[in-house]
Amino acid sequence: MSRRGPSHPTSTATDVDFIEDTPTMRLKSRSLKAECKKIGFVPTMGYLHEAHASLIREAKKRADAVVLSIFVNPTQFGPGEDLDRYPRDLERDMKIAGENGVDIIFHPKSEEMYPEGYSTYVTEETLSRGLCGRSRPGHFRGVATVVLKLFNIVEPDIAVFGEKDYQQLMVINKMVSDLNLDIEIVGSPIVRDKDGLALSSRNEYLTEEERRQALAISSSLVEAREAIAAGERSPRKIREMISKDLLLHKDIRIEYVEIIDARTLAHVKEITPPVVIAVAAFVGKTRLIDNAIIK
Ligand code: AMP
Repeated sequence: MSRRGPSHPTSTATDVDFIEDTPTMRLKSRSLKAECKKIGFVPTMGYLHEAHASLIREAKKRADAVVLSIFVNPTQFGPGEDLDRYPRDLERDMKIAGENGVDIIFHPKSEEMYPEGYSTYVTEETLSRGLCGRSRPGHFRGVATVVLKLFNIVEPDIAVFGEKDYQQLMVINKMVSDLNLDIEIVGSPIVRDKDGLALSSRNEYLTEEERRQALAISSSLVEAREAIAAGERSPRKIREMISKDLLLHKDIRIEYVEIIDARTLAHVKEITPPVVIAVAAFVGKTRLIDNAIIK
């Protein structure tokens, strides 16, 4: 079923096509291709914010039609993670999508993506091992699987992913290259609030006090970047510097602070750009990630 505009009459995004099933999405993509239109794709889990909007605008610049998927993918959540309480607001998402030039929203149902008996998964075996892959076993298997499924349904020419999820961007790039997919992957810079906090749908979980403490993540990354610009080359010193900053805050629990080669994601012995300083930390019960790419 495809319908023009949202099911919610109050929304203003009337010129966005809203598609909820795979055959209709595929037909729509095929007809765009028949008109020689280049398809740009932005996969998301919804609860859109300004960072998603920047990805949409990036796709718009590079393609004739933009497809945005909204799907809270169960296979990338581990047991005890926030799948059930992940924030959702479809009406607001439609408005933001419409205002930023999305042509089609693809909002598949979980039962159609993973029917009973579903048993095929994609595993990238190198880049997905460390960092978030270590603390969230199975996470990147879920991400790679859903992204490949969405690529097969939407058949985009280009797809835009945020650099905030740097490891995810690298895993997708590797999957595309290893599996010979004819899709250009575009990385889009991290979007932050005015005070520096990286935008995330999960920021919604933070209390005011936790949000204040969470600022230490981005500010410690700024400090680390400055230290490297001033000549610091020791990954240990930079890690200690960031950890010390974070541990000043009672509700922050560090999951990892790592300095990795920007291409291989392997730990570096000496800081020689391009490297990424990657941080994952719980602020209260909310897990946040952020990074600084040093080119
Ligand atoms: P999500 O809805 O959180 O799964 O994110 C969908 C896409 O938006 C992914 O490619 C993310 O990397 C990207 N994204 C989320 N937050 C940010 C941010 N603050 N800056 C840049 N990209 C982001």
